[in-house]
Amino acid sequence: MERIPVSEPAIVGNEWKYLKECVDTKWVSSEGEFVKNFEKEFAKYCGVKYALAISNGTHALHLVLLSHGIKTGDEVIVPDLTFIATANAVYYIGAKPVCCDINRETWNIDVEKIESLVTEKTKAIIPVHLYGLPCEMDEINEIAQKHGLIVVEDSAEAAGAEYKGKKAGNLGNSAIFSFYGNKIITTGEGGMITTNDAKIAERAAFLRNHAMSKERHYFHTELGYNYRMTNLQAAFGLAQLEGLDKFVGERIRIARLYSEMLAGVDGITLPAERPYSKHIFWTYSVLIEDEFGISSFELQERLRDKGIETRPFFAPISKMPFYQKFDFNCPVCYDVSKRGISLPTFSGLTEKQIERVVNEIKNSQ
Ligand SMILES: *Cc1c(COP(=O)(O)O)cnc(C)c1O
Repeated sequence: MERIPVSEPAIVGNEWKYLKECVDTKWVSSEGEFVKNFEKEFAKYCGVKYALAISNGTHALHLVLLSHGIKTGDEVIVPDLTFIATANAVYYIGAKPVCCDINRETWNIDVEKIESLVTEKTKAIIPVHLYGLPCEMDEINEIAQKHGLIVVEDSAEAAGAEYKGKKAGNLGNSAIFSFYGNKIITTGEGGMITTNDAKIAERAAFLRNHAMSKERHYFHTELGYNYRMTNLQAAFGLAQLEGLDKFVGERIRIARLYSEMLAGVDGITLPAERPYSKHIFWTYSVLIEDEFGISSFELQERLRDKGIETRPFFAPISKMPFYQKFDFNCPVCYDVSKRGISLPTFSGLTEKQIERVVNEIKNSQ
């Protein structure tokens, strides 16, 4: 029985060649041409002025929030359905992540519910382009403008996604990406900050490198961090970036096939799309409704028995033991979270494999 993983990195380009260059030239740490090139090319790709390579996506989020001046006691609005890092980066600062419920169709932050959560302590909104579908950014930016808030896109799952002709990473005040092994492109571990704001770029670069004084070596004017990316990672990342458009195209092709084959299966809600957005399907995910007959958890188990790996949706942030005390209430998220499963989605997944996944889903009913 052939095992089908839920995710697999696509490593098909210049990765070895660029890594070898690092080894041959001995530029393996965080100084080096690949870091600069990766940043330059990534900024160009997103259509932004500045990109900063970071040790991982979580650090990128922590650093960009610090750079925007988020501090202890502030509040930051985050969707309840996201990877834990979105909220944790806020909490690291001693600021409070305020969980907003999601839209039942897009699974992204519900723009109708954001404003009711704004208080005099609110400083920022972090829209997460969940599973690769951009959030309703016009509405979010409008709310932010009205209340003087910063918008930091969590684009960790959305490299290459577009909203009204603009790339994710260029839709708010600043943005972060993740290059973890299961993301659209990977550097093993890694992340990126993008922004058009020169002050934020400068501040993030400063804090990324221990807040070291430009004038005096080993003199640190404030508390900084080591959130740098190595030249090895950047070399790998540059090679990956060269393949990004191709990887995105493949994911969209995979999504089309899943949607065609799953159409008409009772009790399965397919992922939403928006005509003005380019969904890049970091994962092809569906909801298992009551009419399907068995729960999403049972379905996952049955698929596992057939060698097909799937992934449950994120658990609601507000249900985590250390966030429960805030007493957020996000009923749509609680429902979607327990129904959602992500099916195998990666470059190189064949039509035959997709057919097998779909057949096993149908046989599980
Ligand atoms: C992966 C991910 C992150 C964190 O990225 P790391 O590189 O793993 O630290 C943050 N937010 C979301 C939505 C993610 O999916």
